[in-house]
Amino acid sequence: MSADVMSADVVIVGSGSAGCVLAEKLSREPGRDVVLLERGPGRWPGPEERDLRRLPIGDHAPYAVRHTTDLDGLTAARGCAIGGSSAVNGGYFLRWHPEDFADWPDSWGLDAIDAAYSELDGGGVGAR
Ligand SMILES: Cc1cc2nc3c(=O)[nH]c(=O)nc-3n(C[C@H](O)[C@H](O)[C@H](O)COP(=O)(O)OP(=O)(O)OC[C@H]3O[C@@H](n4cnc5c(N)ncnc54)[C@H](O)[C@@H]3O)c2cc1C
Repeated sequence: MSADVMSADVVIVGSGSAGCVLAEKLSREPGRDVVLLERGPGRWPGPEERDLRRLPIGDHAPYAVRHTTDLDGLTAARGCAIGGSSAVNGGYFLRWHPEDFADWPDSWGLDAIDAAYSELDGGGVGAR
């Protein structure tokens, strides 16, 4: 194998909200190699690039890309950096509610969902 070829047990494409969390969790297993790929810059927007009055998603924003729909020409912005869209989003947060998961498969028990949210909160007390 060439020295340029990297091997891994898991390859995650996209270091957005989902990819970062998944990479962190899967990396907890000793001996499991996890590679996280990101197409955008490998850093968060610095304080000089943040403006609390507007989201950093303008035409030439370095951490966002715009996608145009074929159907009606509307554009939607998405993050493009470590952190993905959470690097450019508004930071609005609503606590989960049991009814949000009422239609989910039984394997997603509310206790497991509550534990996952509490862990993301840094071990804080869940909403239920
Ligand atoms: C402007 C804006 C404001 C928002 N405001 C809020 C808010 O206030 N509160 C809230 O809860 N949610 C908000 N959201 C939604 C939230 O940020 C997203 O739902 C969430 O980040 C999606 O996570 P994700 O991991 O699915 O995708 P993303 O976080 O978008 O991550 C996808 C990542 O994959 C990368 N990628 C894509 N293709 C490739 C490729 N081929 N190779 C390598 N990397 C690739 C992208 O660059 C990106 O970093 C907002 C979203 C946007 C865009």
